[in-house]
Amino acid sequence: MTPPEESHRSLSKPVRLRLTAAAESRVRSGHPWVFGNSVTEVKGDAVSGSLAVMFDRKNDFLAIGLYDALSPIRCRVLSVGKRVLIDRAFWLSRIREAFERRANIASPRTTGLRWIHGENDGMPGLVLDAYGSCGVVKLYTPAWLPHLSDVFDGIKAQFGFERLVLRLSRNLMTEASGRGWKDGTAVWGELPPSPVVFSENGILFEADVVRGQKTGFFLDQRENRAWLETQTRDRTVLNAFSFSGGFSLYAARGGARSVCDLDISSHALRSSGRNFDLNRADRAIDACVRQTVQADAFEWLKENRQQFDVVVVDPPSLAKREMERARAVEAYGRLIRSACERLSPGGLLLAASCSAHVNQEEFFGVVLDTVKRRGDPWLELRRSGHPADHPSSFPEAAYLKCIAVRVG
Ligand code: SAH
Repeated sequence: MTPPEESHRSLSKPVRLRLTAAAESRVRSGHPWVFGNSVTEVKGDAVSGSLAVMFDRKNDFLAIGLYDALSPIRCRVLSVGKRVLIDRAFWLSRIREAFERRANIASPRTTGLRWIHGENDGMPGLVLDAYGSCGVVKLYTPAWLPHLSDVFDGIKAQFGFERLVLRLSRNLMTEASGRGWKDGTAVWGELPPSPVVFSENGILFEADVVRGQKTGFFLDQRENRAWLETQTRDRTVLNAFSFSGGFSLYAARGGARSVCDLDISSHALRSSGRNFDLNRADRAIDACVRQTVQADAFEWLKENRQQFDVVVVDPPSLAKREMERARAVEAYGRLIRSACERLSPGGLLLAASCSAHVNQEEFFGVVLDTVKRRGDPWLELRRSGHPADHPSSFPEAAYLKCIAVRVG
């Protein structure tokens, strides 16, 4: 795809913002988001992608960020306290810092990695994942559109990707297409003809980088999967919300007798099947009996009577908005209750949540309360948050939590 017009020519003039006192001190203390309702004055070219210069009450420079005309997050902060020029060199240094932070995570055994994790790497609303030699950039705000050529140059200079695929969240597709960018297209290199194969801790997986959810795979569960592998020898395992079988493959390599993938999507179940086939050379994976169930996991867990030694529950986000939080906590309670019903005595429950609006304390609380209410003995074995390639640098960024409990 030919990159659209040169970014510096399409950049608008910076917009000048003033904020409420509360927002000003939040920004000063390092929070990367300024909400629309805390902007008290806007002057200049208030279009998405403009640089936004924020001034404090004394009229001194406060911070610089990316302006987003439509999102409730009106401005995403790039730098606080001192004036910096936001140009190609700035992006390149952000990209290099993100790279250096992860230099010792990548290895020939793990070629799937998040290299840039949005706000937490100083590049708010932009993600870069690698699947072997294929890079995937996903954008969550149109504010990046005028800066893309510079950012892509930086990525090219830092990473030796053979190809780079662009993914867009739904909210910016129209604006992007006006600038010549489309979801699921190659920025350079050929678009991969079929899912890309990469390695995670030595297990091969496919990632549908062009059409798949997020960038094609859930890289954030790598460490939880690796822990599960240590717990599955001779066990029967149910992987609820299995997607492409991430947890299942590790359970199988750990010596599980059988693994059952449960997902509502036939596409996800087929992908898991292909992932098992990719790893037939591994004796344990080849020997593991694989079953699949295509069903609504909430219903199936409640109605089915089958029992398993290990149950993994990793649903999609149950609270997309703050107002859905209480309902989500209730839903987690119901889900955990029926997951426990599917456990054989002394079985292992591994429960994860990716709902940013439900915090660690609430999630671990609802899991443990539900387990305790059964009246059986229980033992917490492990809790975890974010892996090192998905750092979380402010409260709203801490979406991932996972807990393992032996029940009964
Ligand atoms: N555990 C997975 C990631 C899960 S993503 C991993 O390690 O990669 C969430 C998955 O839940 C998706 O595959 C989606 O198809 C599935 N899903 C969403 N709603 C569902 C439902 N009601 N019942 C079963 N699966 C569902």
